Amino acid sequence: MAKEYKTLKTEIRLPYELSYGPVWTRFFEGMREKKIYGTKCEKCGRILVPARSFCPRCFVDTNAWVEVAQTGKLTAWSYINYRYFGMPTEPPFIGALIRLDGTDVDFLHLLGGIDLADLDKVRGIVHNGMQLKAVWQEERIGHILDLEHFAPV
Ligand SMILES: [Zn+2]
Repeated sequence: MAKEYKTLKTEIRLPYELSYGPVWTRFFEGMREKKIYGTKCEKCGRILVPARSFCPRCFVDTNAWVEVAQTGKLTAWSYINYRYFGMPTEPPFIGALIRLDGTDVDFLHLLGGIDLADLDKVRGIVHNGMQLKAVWQEERIGHILDLEHFAPV
């Protein structure tokens, strides 16, 4: 007969610092200047955003920098109304995948500029394919949230 062990559910937090490296450094410096940078794969031609050092499809370095559009279409979204460790902002908020115009991958960011208090109202406004535009913070520090959110056009 197998012995049963009691378990304790707990949580481990591991604070750490992640070096941006040259590609993310340039990407985040762009954020400070209200610019969104991607990199283009010379093999498949895709424009990847945020900028990446290599194409995950072709496994070749991406050395061509492209300033991409600040407009795009919503491709997927999730309404978050609870707190969790590491969340990007206070709930409720909408995590969104946005296909910026002229790019070939979805950019994960926040959808804002609408009243998020009532999910039923949000459902009446937010839909995949809706046009969005970048809204920037007044003061920027070279962080992903220098771009405050994407708002409906
Ligand atoms: Zn490629």
